[in-house]
Amino acid sequence: MEREMQLFVDSLKRNLTAEDIVNLEACIGCKNCGEACAWYLTTGDEKLHPTYKTDFIRKIYKRYMTLEGKIKGALGLMETPTVKDLRENMEYFWKCTACGRCTLACPQGLSTRRIVRLARAAYSDAGLSEENPTIKSIVENTRNLRHSFGLTREQVFGRVGLFLYTDGTELPVEVKGAEYLFVCPAAGNTKIPDYGIKLPKILNAAGVSYTVSPRVIDTGTEIDHIVVHHELSKQMLLEWEAEAERLGVQKVLVVECGCDVRTLYVEATETLGRPFKFPIVSVDSLMLELIKSGKLPVEKIKQKITMHDPCYVTRLAGMGEMERELLRSVAENFVEMTPNREYNYCCNAGSGPMRLPENTELRRKVSKIKAEQIKNTGAELVTTPCAVCMLSIEDTCKVYGLAPENKRMSLMMFEVVYEAMVKALEKRGELDRMRMPAELKGRDEEFFMKHSISGIMAQMMQNPDFPKLMEWLEGDEIVQRYFRDNPHAFEKMQELKQMIEKKFKQEVKAR
Ligand code: SF4
Ligand code: SF4
Repeated sequence: MEREMQLFVDSLKRNLTAEDIVNLEACIGCKNCGEACAWYLTTGDEKLHPTYKTDFIRKIYKRYMTLEGKIKGALGLMETPTVKDLRENMEYFWKCTACGRCTLACPQGLSTRRIVRLARAAYSDAGLSEENPTIKSIVENTRNLRHSFGLTREQVFGRVGLFLYTDGTELPVEVKGAEYLFVCPAAGNTKIPDYGIKLPKILNAAGVSYTVSPRVIDTGTEIDHIVVHHELSKQMLLEWEAEAERLGVQKVLVVECGCDVRTLYVEATETLGRPFKFPIVSVDSLMLELIKSGKLPVEKIKQKITMHDPCYVTRLAGMGEMERELLRSVAENFVEMTPNREYNYCCNAGSGPMRLPENTELRRKVSKIKAEQIKNTGAELVTTPCAVCMLSIEDTCKVYGLAPENKRMSLMMFEVVYEAMVKALEKRGELDRMRMPAELKGRDEEFFMKHSISGIMAQMMQNPDFPKLMEWLEGDEIVQRYFRDNPHAFEKMQELKQMIEKKFKQEVKAR
């Protein structure tokens, strides 16, 4: 057997469960699954039909992993898939979001998404998936920097620190004994860190005991869902647990990321071979509890708003009703899209299709169904508890002309909560509640300098490389977007820059 095929088959052997064998053996070939898949429905392309992917893996399984296949293959009575076939078919396993919708249409209840994950893991174990430059970069960045987009700790913290500094808001860093450890996935702190600062402001206003850590700057979900690299995924989870242990937190807070939700609530047990050590709390269920208990004041927003169910949050983690309850508590005019809940159509972006640029044109075409769903609601806004869904829907709304010029139509769920909270706090004259986290209140100066984001920023400024970081920040498109949206913050950044330049000039003079 060719080396890559051997590695591919070995990976399948390692990971196939009895249930997966049923997934491969029990298909009756009715092709109903295609009627539920947006990729097939919008294109009619047989290579995008769920069965194209499962048939290919079934061929490999039958030929190399069953006695019948070994005998018939040796006699030339059965087709023998080759490494060339693996390469030719690889792209189709990433033209799928592993959303699981096709399972709903299958009379046998078979899971194509499971086969897709097995195939991705096998491509990864065979070293073939890294022939794709984006997948290669996710693996290398995760391995070397523990951040799948390749940002350094300084870049992640410098950017968030800059936003919070110019906003006058604090963030607790490495506070031992806090109740929650709050970790943001790379997609969140790379693509929407400016929108993301609303989340610590909500936690501050509600008096939640939480901390972030500079040691864990990514949750590892791209390595788990896009690449399906089990070994690196395990390392990321173990490091996450170790940091929670070191800091002595009680629970781990999962932010609005469908992949994180699925990993922590479901996949982690399989990856680690045991449940994740810490209780997991979704930030949305926490916000709902805070609103219900009166700790987080809100006043409902009035705009007509619809909700996109992220497949990994609703269909694959069962949290759809909780998300609806949260949305109803902050929005007066919530209207469902049709179909909804577990029958909702995917955003067509998660677990790969948005991250791999070669899929952009096709993803947009496939998103026609999503655009129609949104348009039919007549809503002004769409919200969703997943960063990648939000970004994909933002793109879909623009491409299909649904969003008003230069205005965001797609919001994270926590952004809707934020708007409702600001409305309530403004009325009460309590906007300052968003500034200071519970874990930093009443602390002495030494503690504050060590554990506040402004203290960490001050330490970073002492570093001779800080001007380089400032240069990177100035050229960064997310920073530019933040300053466009918050012009007052730009002036504060200029003050900060002048202060740093002055400091470094004085130091150079003194040398
Ligand atoms: S998992 Fe989703 S994207 Fe993949 S084949 Fe099934 S319905 Fe299509
Ligand atoms: S719907 Fe189920 S049984 Fe029918 S072709 Fe698809 S996977 Fe096979």
